[in-house]
Amino acid sequence: MKKNKILVALLSLAVFFASCDKEYNPTKPPVTPPVDTTTYKDNDNLLLGNPSNAAHILDSGDNYLLDHQYFILSYNKDKGIPNWVSWHLSQSDLGSTDRTDDFRYDNALPPGWYRPDYDAFFGSGFDRGHNCPSADRTTTVTANSTTFLMSNMIPQAPNNNQGVWANFEDYIRTRINTAGQEAYIIMGNYGIGGVGDNGPANYVDGGHVTVPAHIWKVVLFLQNGNDDLSRINTSTTVVSIDVPNTNSVSSSWQTYRTSVDAIEAATGLDLFSRVPVDIQAVIEAKSN
Ligand code: MN
Ligand code: MN
Repeated sequence: MKKNKILVALLSLAVFFASCDKEYNPTKPPVTPPVDTTTYKDNDNLLLGNPSNAAHILDSGDNYLLDHQYFILSYNKDKGIPNWVSWHLSQSDLGSTDRTDDFRYDNALPPGWYRPDYDAFFGSGFDRGHNCPSADRTTTVTANSTTFLMSNMIPQAPNNNQGVWANFEDYIRTRINTAGQEAYIIMGNYGIGGVGDNGPANYVDGGHVTVPAHIWKVVLFLQNGNDDLSRINTSTTVVSIDVPNTNSVSSSWQTYRTSVDAIEAATGLDLFSRVPVDIQAVIEAKSN
């Protein structure tokens, strides 16, 4: 039938255009599909749980789940920054790709929302502080470039970003590189108001972006292996820090050790929610 032939032709065209869109373009990351939270697999960025039950729906603007494959995050459109970013790190993520440095707005965010661009923090006295670090994603240009999406950034006091924060990131990668370990990492922030190069500020980018008061990171280390969720026990090492977003911080991350329980109390999040509660109770109370 003629009608069927036209349908087939239209369908082929649609398939053709859909396949064109898959070509890599650093200014246009693919829009991410909804995440099915029941199918997490070993080494998935969110294997240990969705800390705020973030959802990939427009109604969830202050807790919007975005899966960027190399990391996954909860975005807060009212703050213009992520609530938290979560990723898995192993030696297979560490290569030799140079920093792509292609900071850019995240066009996977719904078009009606304000999207901070590469220059959103310019002149503010704050760095564009990565959540998932560039140096944690260095096996391909695509992987590294994805970390430069502005949805992965917070306005971070330069001494914090380049001092204590860089040192803690290095410590984590050293364990991955030398101790035969893999890690599940979550970084987030809370509160309003930091102190950067130009003094105190609550907002930047014309009020569109909130400057967080505190920045935290939680890292769960495992020896390399499979079935990660089932290998977590009360002896599993968790290292957590909570650092003020100011220029006057120490460069030593050990100064800012805290427990997951303290971060949960400060943020209202439930970290490691897929770990059995009796194990959570033990590993979240420790400050290693
Ligand atoms: Mn694993
Ligand atoms: Mn928890």
